[in-house]
Amino acid sequence: DPRIEGIASSIRVVPNFPKPGIMFQDITTLLLDPKAFKNTVDLFVERYTGKDITVVAGIEARGFIFGPPIALAIGAKFIPLRKPRKLPGEVISEEYVLEYGTDCLQMHIGAVHPGDRALVVDDLIATGGTLCAAIKLLERAGAEVVECACVIELPELKGRERLNGKPLYILVESR
Ligand code: 5GP
Repeated sequence: DPRIEGIASSIRVVPNFPKPGIMFQDITTLLLDPKAFKNTVDLFVERYTGKDITVVAGIEARGFIFGPPIALAIGAKFIPLRKPRKLPGEVISEEYVLEYGTDCLQMHIGAVHPGDRALVVDDLIATGGTLCAAIKLLERAGAEVVECACVIELPELKGRERLNGKPLYILVESR
């Protein structure tokens, strides 16, 4: 798709952020380019329109940027999957392993129901640990995870293999 190139070139790579050796993929520069931002949302909306997706689950924090416009356009509800102690209601939690230590995602109980068909949205997949936790939360609540969608994949980290066979759709590969 000719729109992909403009999206890829709008993403800034920041070396040594947030620590030495990391090449951080910065999507804030994509957001500064209205055409690239719109094309990003449009590509996802075109893919998921008519697929009976009932819920878009966005992962804190950058899944909160791309998820809601997709949800509105396809007529699905939006739910935030948040870091611990942010959601005020009763939650379920999934811990996942990071390079150093663990992190956790939480979801409100009652936000999804058996029969819901979910799309999980984030900006980037690296090791896949975050998306894996998101899939587990949704499945524990009885939803069917139809697909995961990210703007960027770092294929060398093989995160795709940690998604328990769930399909992953991405727009840009980065090394
Ligand atoms: P994973 O769990 O797949 O190893 O890491 C993915 C999570 O970390 C995503 O929520 C993503 O937002 C964040 N992340 C890791 N590296 C980067 C990066 O280079 N750029 C951005 N924008 N997010 C990153």
